Amino acid sequence: MALHWRLRGFPALKYITSRRNHRLQPKRELNSNIIDALQAATGSENVSTATAVREQHGKDESYHECKPPDAVVWPQNVEQVSRLAQICFENNIPVIPFGTSTGLEGGVLAMRGGVCFDLTKMDKIVGLNTVDFDVTVEPGVTRKGLDNHLRGSGLWFPVDPGADASLCGMAATSASGTNAVLYRTMRENVINLEVVLADGRIMYTSGEKRRFRKTSAGYNLTNLFIGSEGTLGIITKATLRLYGIPEAMVSAVCSFPTVQAAVDCTVQILQCGIPIARIEFLDDVMMDACNKYSNLNYTVLSTLFLEFHGTEKSVEEQIEATEELVKVNNGSDFAWAKDQESRNKLWQARHSAWYAAQALRPGCEAYSTDVCVPLSRLPEIIVTTKEDLVNSKLTGPIVGHVGDGNFHCLMTMNPEDKDEGRRVKEFTDRLARRALAMHGTCTGEHGVGLGKRQLLTEEIGAVGMQVMREIKAALDPKNIMNPGKVV
Ligand SMILES: Cc1cc2nc3c(=O)[nH]c(=O)nc-3n(C[C@H](O)[C@H](O)[C@H](O)COP(=O)(O)OP(=O)(O)OC[C@H]3O[C@@H](n4cnc5c(N)ncnc54)[C@H](O)[C@@H]3O)c2cc1C
Repeated sequence: MALHWRLRGFPALKYITSRRNHRLQPKRELNSNIIDALQAATGSENVSTATAVREQHGKDESYHECKPPDAVVWPQNVEQVSRLAQICFENNIPVIPFGTSTGLEGGVLAMRGGVCFDLTKMDKIVGLNTVDFDVTVEPGVTRKGLDNHLRGSGLWFPVDPGADASLCGMAATSASGTNAVLYRTMRENVINLEVVLADGRIMYTSGEKRRFRKTSAGYNLTNLFIGSEGTLGIITKATLRLYGIPEAMVSAVCSFPTVQAAVDCTVQILQCGIPIARIEFLDDVMMDACNKYSNLNYTVLSTLFLEFHGTEKSVEEQIEATEELVKVNNGSDFAWAKDQESRNKLWQARHSAWYAAQALRPGCEAYSTDVCVPLSRLPEIIVTTKEDLVNSKLTGPIVGHVGDGNFHCLMTMNPEDKDEGRRVKEFTDRLARRALAMHGTCTGEHGVGLGKRQLLTEEIGAVGMQVMREIKAALDPKNIMNPGKVV
């Protein structure tokens, strides 16, 4: 786990979180009978109440302060998860599913104590169907673990949030990343989920062992659990859609005189139906930070990183059409990379963006926004947001999956500076509300967690929120599944 860049210490944001927490029901202590029952269910070596272990499980990569659970359990199969859930249900004890804790919204914090279900010991790849392009994984399997397993099969799973997250955690947060413009998000790439409900019942969102490419069979229970952030059940298996590795992959970088020109070019590439695989935007502040951090010498201007996938011929056609659009928008400094080594080098700057942003202000901490708007509104929101950053005297290099209308301001701030904390909070709320006013969402990929619950209410509306709460109450009548998150 990349602990060295943990995002912590926003006094203003912490204040908001702690004010909300008092609304939660009082914490239920775990007595020795309950610990005995947990040990009987999964083996005493798979239950811990040690402070260090609990603290390690009470935080993720977000700025939220650690909230340790009362105990951590490591089940090894779905039957154990089910039995452990039953014990918690019977005793009204909160359950917090735990993947690899790379989440950015405080999802694994134990707001009311309870039992953290660390699922990392359930790490089998239980079915790979190369002919059908699907695979079924347990919750301890990470993105890179699956990548290694698929090596040599000619297949890959393209949803890539950057971090080596667990695939079931990625389903729980509806993750996506740089490849989403072509391959979409977890929502479109999960075929079936095995879920243990709050009372211990085991269910399959598409029916047991089903792995079809399409269906019209009833409500979409799979998508109900994608993005549920551990508040409706524990995902114990995910069946995922795989893709053939493309014959050709070519990457490119090009710079533009203005933000507007770079984003206009993005929109035009998509409007022309060019099936681009990745299109990432970095503003001038971000490029400068990347140059300094990765010892590169890219032009310090608004920049697009692009990648094309397909056959040799189709990639050539895509490149030709894209080059024309770049020229029309006054883009320049095109650099192409065809072989794996030069492609990796080219993407190095993009992948190090987070660390590069932090290096701009050593000793400072960081928080990433993740609003997403309709493509037509993207130029306007980025330009306005850059102005807002300047007016608010804040450092927040912009990097974005602009092909999806989704971008991040990587806010850096001094944890000791309360005034800066307040300005960051006001800026991020303003940005989210700006996105909502443009018919967008407050979170394109990181989830709601602790900090965006008010924004979710504004986004979904009163009736929509009521329906969400009714669904939550139906599946989790005792409100023990990851309480204090999302709804
Ligand atoms: C450097 C970096 C870059 C990132 N970039 C991106 C990005 O580009 N796109 C993106 O989408 N995300 C990004 N993230 C965020 C993060 O990787 C995702 O949110 C990821 O999906 C979290 O997975 P996890 O296994 O770490 O989940 P955790 O952090 O362990 O948990 C996240 C939430 O999911 C719940 N959960 C976890 N596992 C389960 C389960 N099996 N069943 C039910 N609920 C579960 C938890 O209770 C919690 O609420 C980034 C993170 C880092 C550190």
